[in-house]
This record gives sequence, C-alpha cells and structure tokens, in this order.
Amino acid sequence: MTELVSPASGSTEVLRAYNGSMINSFGPPKRVFVRGEGVHVWDAEQNKYLDLLSGLAVNALGHAHPTVLAAVTGQLSTLGHVSNFFATPAQVTLAQRLSALAGGDAKVFFTNSGTEANEAALKITRLTGRAKIIAAEGAFHGRTMGALSITHKPKYREPFEPLPGPVEFVPYGDAEALAAAVDETVAAVVLEPIQGENGIVVPPPGYLAAARAITAEHGALLWFDEVQTGLGRAGEWFAHQAEDVVPDLITIAKGLGNGFPVGACLALGATADLMYPGSHGTTFGGNPVAAVAALAVLGVIERDGLLDRARRNGDQLARDIETLDHPLIAEVRGRGLLRGVVLTEPVAPAVSDAALDAGFIINAPRPNVLRLAPPLIIGADDLSSFVQALPGLLDTGRVAAGEARV
Ligand SMILES: *Cc1c(COP(=O)(O)O)cnc(C)c1O
Repeated sequence: MTELVSPASGSTEVLRAYNGSMINSFGPPKRVFVRGEGVHVWDAEQNKYLDLLSGLAVNALGHAHPTVLAAVTGQLSTLGHVSNFFATPAQVTLAQRLSALAGGDAKVFFTNSGTEANEAALKITRLTGRAKIIAAEGAFHGRTMGALSITHKPKYREPFEPLPGPVEFVPYGDAEALAAAVDETVAAVVLEPIQGENGIVVPPPGYLAAARAITAEHGALLWFDEVQTGLGRAGEWFAHQAEDVVPDLITIAKGLGNGFPVGACLALGATADLMYPGSHGTTFGGNPVAAVAALAVLGVIERDGLLDRARRNGDQLARDIETLDHPLIAEVRGRGLLRGVVLTEPVAPAVSDAALDAGFIINAPRPNVLRLAPPLIIGADDLSSFVQALPGLLDTGRVAAGEARV
C-alpha cells in the first residue's frame, strides 16, 4: 500500500500518490501548492511563485483575502447551509447586487460552477419553445453535456456524442455569418464577449451590438457567457458593457467567489419568467457561505476601485510587453487583466513551463498564446517583474521546445 499523503508531505510524494488516487482527466499536475497570500503562492518545498493566472481567472482578490476570509468564516459559524426549500438574506442580497450590476432588470439562478450556470441558461433557452443554439467557432462553455454541446473543440466533444442539439457553430466575430445563421427556429445565440480558452480573442467593435440586433429581429435570445470575462476581469463588471449592449442571459462563475465555488445565471427582462417552479433545481447553489464570499468580492472590487485598476494595469502591461520588441512576440490582445501574448511560434507550453521554473504562474490556452490573468489587486511592480523576465523565458522556452522536437 502507498503511504497516505498528509499536509506535511513533499511534492514528489504527493504527485506519486496523485497518479494512484486521482482519475487521470487533467494529465500530470505541474506543482503541488500548499499556501497562498495576496498575489503569491508557495509549493510544498516553500518555493515562492507570483500568481499571474489566479487559479484560472478566479482569485480576483488574490489569496487569503481578509475580507473574503472574514465573510466566509463568519457565515460558516452562523449558518452554513439550508437548501433551496428556504431563503437566506445573503442569497437574496447577492441576487439584488448582481441584478443592479447587470443594469437592474435581472433575476438570478445560483450554481456552483460555470458549466452549471450554462446548463441553467440552456434550460431557459429550451423554454422559449425553440431548440436550436448558435454558438461560435473556438467557443468554450464547459464540460457537462449541455455546455459541451455548445463548446466547439472537436477533441472535447466527439468522445461524448451524441450531445444535445441542434447546435450550429459560426465564425467568431463575423456579424454577416451570424446574420445568415439566425432565423425563427433559433432559441439563442451564445457568445463569449472575449473568447478565453480560445486564446483571448477580442471580436471586432460592433460585433456584440450586431448580435443584439440580429437576435432581436428573429425573436432569439442573446446570451453572453461571462464566466471568464465577468466581474472586473476585463475592466468592466461585465465585458459586454464596454460595448453598451444588453443581453437576455448572462452566465458568470470564475471570478465571483474568489475561489469559493459559486456561479450564476442572470436572466434579464421577460426571459427571467420562462422558468417556473420545478423546472430547475440545485442542492448547493445559492448556499449562504458562497453568497457572502461573492458579496465580499463585489464589495472589495467596488471599495478598492479594482475595475479602474484592472484597466490601467492591463493597458500598461500590454504596452510594456509590446515594447519589448521580442521576435517571438506577435501581439498582445485582450482587455483589462485578461491578456493573451500571441507568439510567432507554437512554443507557448514550453514558455509557460519555463515561467513556472522561474517562479511565475501563467498558462498556454493555445500552442501560440500565453494567458495572463493575474489577481485584480496586483501592483505595477509585480507586473513589471514579469515583463522584465519575459524575454529570458521566451528564449528558454523556445530552446526547450526545439530540444523536445528532436
Ligand atoms: C471556465 C469557463 C466555463 C466553465 O466553467 P467551470 O466552472 O469550469 O465549469 C464556461 N465558460 C467559459 C467562458 C469559461 O471560461
């Protein structure tokens, strides 16, 4: 029998036990982390890392934020869970706050994740009496069967077919293709305001507004998946607000609870009335502990002016990286603190590994794109320490990728 892992176990021991005890759906983990504070995390050997990924655009306030900590522990010691047979003030307050942020006319269904928020939205689209969904090429909406049906990557979808449908994929950012695809059989058009997993792809200006006009013309719902872009990540409460467009459905999750699992489906206007008692449910969704975690996040974003900070620091970061003028860097795209560094060669995974070895957590959503999604609280000094290291990381990564090929 292998020895049981404890909080004191070293990385090698944990990773060995991981392989024997965890279902192999993620591939091998790159590190074992044991502690986090602010914008830093530490591995089991006490090596320190600057977190420029925030647990995949989740930890907007960094690690162990005192306001979230106080809210969660306070709620846990008062009332931890009651089920949706009952209401709690925290849950309703959060729904009111989110509704106000979305423009004041939204009702909310709470979930525990992004994919579940999208399942709720999908069920709402079915209640229109239409079934067809138009999604975008390159789209990522989650891994459960419904969300997977509107996720584009064949590698993710094909082993699990048949999936719900019908779903038609159109080129992202192409308003003409969208107009050609939408007719009176379409229940909804689902779009990420900026495509995250596809490598931080920003659509051309006016695309989201065109999607609004096209869906309105044919009585189809417009649904923005803001699971990655929402809650200040791209510099607005919701990324679509930069374009001044009002959708019918908004789904959120990642940044909402600063690591506490919580998501939500927001339905605006008459769309909120499509669901009826018994049409959907959840045991944990809207749990008061999750709700106060989210309220703490929203409160700190507002109190500390983090939307403005994300815009300012994000723009500076993009300018500084482009100014490096490194031959491997093609462009920096994205908004706020959701940025993709596009490389001229498909060496992003090796560069990401080199960054980790040097104490920077980033990732490679595509072979030629590095993703930066640091906590919204990050300071200019920490960002520039990464920019200064980046040329060396690119060179190391390119060499390592070359060696791996031979
Ligand atoms: C991450 C993500 C999801 C899925 O969220 P999970 O919490 O992993 O289920 C859905 N949509 C988008 C745009 C995402 O980035």
